[in-house]
This record gives sequence, C-alpha cells and structure tokens, in this order.
Amino acid sequence: MRAQGTESPDSGKPDSGKLWIVATPIGNLADWSPRAQETLRDVDLIAAEDTRHSAALLAQFGIGTRTLALHEHNERDKSDELVQRMREGAQIALISDAGTPLVSDPGFRLVRAAREAGIAVSPIPGACAAIAALSAAGLPSDRFVFEGFLPAKSAARRAQLQALAAETRTLIFYESSHRIEESLSDCASVFGGDRHAVLARELTKLYETILDGTLADLSVRVSTDADQRRGEFVLLVAGADAGDAAAKLVQGRRVFDILRRELPPSRAAKLAAEITGASRKALYDAVES
Ligand code: SAM
Repeated sequence: MRAQGTESPDSGKPDSGKLWIVATPIGNLADWSPRAQETLRDVDLIAAEDTRHSAALLAQFGIGTRTLALHEHNERDKSDELVQRMREGAQIALISDAGTPLVSDPGFRLVRAAREAGIAVSPIPGACAAIAALSAAGLPSDRFVFEGFLPAKSAARRAQLQALAAETRTLIFYESSHRIEESLSDCASVFGGDRHAVLARELTKLYETILDGTLADLSVRVSTDADQRRGEFVLLVAGADAGDAAAKLVQGRRVFDILRRELPPSRAAKLAAEITGASRKALYDAVES
C-alpha cells in the first residue's frame, strides 16, 4: 500500500513517483494523524528540514524510513536530485521541524520543481500554528493576511508595519521569544495602542496561553511578565477600520506623493487631506519624518 485511502488522490500511473507534503505536530504529539505516520512509514525517503530534529519524532513513532536534509541552503540543489528520483519512481515525503512545510518553512522550490516536472504532489494536512491561532483568537477570520516573520531590524520592521497600517483584514505574524517584546511595541506605535490583538503562545503545549486585549495591554503584559516572553508565538492583529486614522494616513500619503509631482508640498498636503480624510498635520509630520 502506498499511503492511499479510498479517497486519496494519486498520480494516476502505477509505480510513478510522488511527493507527499506531510504536516507534523506543533507541540502536542497526539495531534499527529495516523495517515501522516503511515505515509512516512511507506515512502522511500523523507526529506526533512533538520534530520537530527526529526529523528526524535520519527523514532518515537517507530518510523525507520531513511531521511535526507532539505533546508533553505541546499533546497535549490537537492530539489533537482529529488525530482530525478521521483521521475524514476521514488515516493518522497517532505516534512519540516514542526507544522506544515512551506509555511515559513522550506519546500516551495521542491514543490515547484516537482510540479513543473509533472510529478504528483499531495498534501497530508495537519497542524499549522497560524491557522490554529486564528481558529481560537476570536478575531474576524473570514479574510486574513499571513505575514510570516517580521524583519529582525526595527527600521525594516516598522516600514513593513507601516505598509500594513491600512490593511483591513486580520493580520497574522509569527514571532520568536527574542523579538516578541519589540515587535509588540512597534505594532502598538504604528497601528495605535488601542488596536485589538491576540497573542497565542505555545499552542497545544503545556504552557499554552492566549492573551486578548489592545496592543498597548499586550505590550505591557509581555514586558512585565518574563513567562509571557518564553516559547513560540503567533501574533494576530485586528485589521484597520476603513475609517481608522492610520488607514487614512496611509492613503493620504499615497495621494500626497502623486500630487507632489505637480504641486508645491503645502498645496499637495491640503488636497491629499481633503481627498482622503487624513489629518493635514499628520500628513506633514509623516512626510517630514
Ligand atoms: N510551518 C510551521 C507552521 O505550520 O506553523 C511554522 C514554522 S516557523 C519556522 C516557526 C514559527 O511558528 C514559530 O516561531 C512561531 O512563531 C510559530 N509556531 C510554531 N509552533 C507554535 C506553537 N506551538 N505555538 C505558537 N506559535 C508557534
């Protein structure tokens, strides 16, 4: 059996190679599906982000399949080799350290290369921290934007947040314990301290906490409680109200930049403020800074 259930998609050709994208748990091992385990047992080779990290998980579930490292530094080279093996009939599974491969994890190049080579690619879904956090956050979930990790340096991080200030969909970020305090503080200063946010920490693990409040509240909570800076985080921020001052300012700056090509700054700022509803002073200040 090649990890196929009655409804499993398959490549349509007997003995043809195939790439399985297999999610692994994000903490709680009981979340791992029997189908994921069975697939990893049945394939010829497991491509893993970190073979040493995955060895413990595989051993715990009695999975003895051979592994090969596929990470961001060798993915380009290894993808060709793996595609060739699948062309020759190999069944290969891709896993990452935790959660769903390709979601802030390696695998995009391999999947692209496999699809371009006409090799079937099939997901074995499971845990994904962003989706788990969204499902429990109580923020609008009909439309959301996954931003992955914010830049490590404050100037680049603020610039990226600035570009998202007018976004009306729920924003989802991944963050590490090293930067959670700074990122929360930058979010509060760019989006405004009263924007609603949820901080999901250590999901599915012993010390899972899901904090809910304004960005200002969460910032204080995390700076004053060292326990709230430990572990892995998903930060969700409510989208801007369409009439929100930050959203208007972003639109105002765009209009200002266009008008400025033809008009003196004071006239461009006055008109941009009139057109978008942004504060003229805030527009000036933003342009000056
Ligand atoms: N591919 C993974 C997924 O599907 O969620 C994400 C990999 S990314 C390299 C790791 C980041 O995911 C962590 O820094 C953290 O932001 C988030 N994360 C992973 N596990 C988590 C958990 N149990 N609780 C909260 N966040 C988690």
